[in-house]
Amino acid sequence: MTGKHRLQWASLLLAGAVLGASSVLFLQYLPESLIRPAEAAGGKVAGPNVEAPERYVYYPGTEVLAEDEVRVIACGTGMPDQRRGQASACFLFEFGNGEKLIFDIGSGSMRNVNALMIPTEYLTKIFISHLHTDHWADLNALWAGGWTSGRPVPLEVWGPSGQTEDMGTAYAIDHFLKAFNWDYQTRAFKITPVPGQIKVHEFDYKAVNQVIYDQNGIEVRSIPAIHAGDGPVSFIIEYAGLKLVFGGDTSPNKWFVEHAKDAEFVIHEAFASPGFFQADYGQPPQLAWRACCEFHTSGPAFGKIMSEIKPGHAVAYHTMEEAHQELLLSIRSTYDGPLSIAMDMMVWNITKEGVKERMAVSPERASGVPGPTRQPPPEKGRPSPMSDFIASGEWGPGFNAQNNMLDEHSRKYNLEKMDWRPAKPWYKPTE
Ligand SMILES: [Zn+2]
Ligand SMILES: [Zn+2]
Repeated sequence: MTGKHRLQWASLLLAGAVLGASSVLFLQYLPESLIRPAEAAGGKVAGPNVEAPERYVYYPGTEVLAEDEVRVIACGTGMPDQRRGQASACFLFEFGNGEKLIFDIGSGSMRNVNALMIPTEYLTKIFISHLHTDHWADLNALWAGGWTSGRPVPLEVWGPSGQTEDMGTAYAIDHFLKAFNWDYQTRAFKITPVPGQIKVHEFDYKAVNQVIYDQNGIEVRSIPAIHAGDGPVSFIIEYAGLKLVFGGDTSPNKWFVEHAKDAEFVIHEAFASPGFFQADYGQPPQLAWRACCEFHTSGPAFGKIMSEIKPGHAVAYHTMEEAHQELLLSIRSTYDGPLSIAMDMMVWNITKEGVKERMAVSPERASGVPGPTRQPPPEKGRPSPMSDFIASGEWGPGFNAQNNMLDEHSRKYNLEKMDWRPAKPWYKPTE
């Protein structure tokens, strides 16, 4: 507020108090700059017991997409040192035909994905730009969490090859499953094995604009990126005449500038300045300089790229929120087009008519709701991962203490024939 406006405010308040002016009259004299934000928020409430007008917020689960519409939700926009309020890279793309594709699934991002309350059976397709943990480490949370909460089918992962076999996505997933073998074996025995499988589609990281996915009217193509070593890629997504781009980590590269051109919606990383990395991360000046501006894309470089591409809407991510103001100013030194500095839970609806930006509002403790499909039953004859020695340590009084609750549950759902308790040495029926 300027000094002049502050003076106007003070005199208006005084006038209001003295004359008892009605609120309508009072509003007439509000400075223009104060009225605008109220109008921008979607209108006014017409009475004390009516629906509030639409604001710039998205309530998950309340909006059906039009056939030719895409909704993109930022489920992670930060750095590898995820915070409670900002997870590492993850963008969920939801298409009007019902398809949902996850682009990167960085550390901490599944907390945001789950807050959208989408049944896990619809979250099975993951595209990984590269194998830094801040772009795929929360695969474990989707894999195991979705399995426990009802996903009936395997996950499918699309990711690039590497210069050698042990630097590629297939190797990473193979060893992911080896690292989590105990988790797999125990869940496979108790729940069902199928949702624990991961189908890998590894593609050549050197391929330029090659189709790696073509299903249900959605085409995803891959282009190489330049970041830390061979392997990283970015993705071009085409659907219903819309061209959308998800850029993984990269320094400015020619493939991106060429193939993202004229897209309706372009996501690209943008890093904080060297000075910020010195101050926030305690990095030596030389490393800070290379972090932002050799392995990654700085604000001015991001702006230059977007000025060349001229997207319908540009999105910058991969910067801690406390650096956003500085980043915005540096991007604006080279780009003056439509722009969002992405924050976690920012939402964009994209159609031929344009891009609408909102923030998702979801409860802290929301999680994926059950979907219509049931999981297959446990596999018969599968060996138990528990020995007789460990099973013999079960303490009867603790188990028998649950009998009333379990008897009731058993009667309610006709589970008498499936009662596992009589086979136990400790079992003491309640009656
Ligand atoms: Zn990276
Ligand atoms: Zn990264």
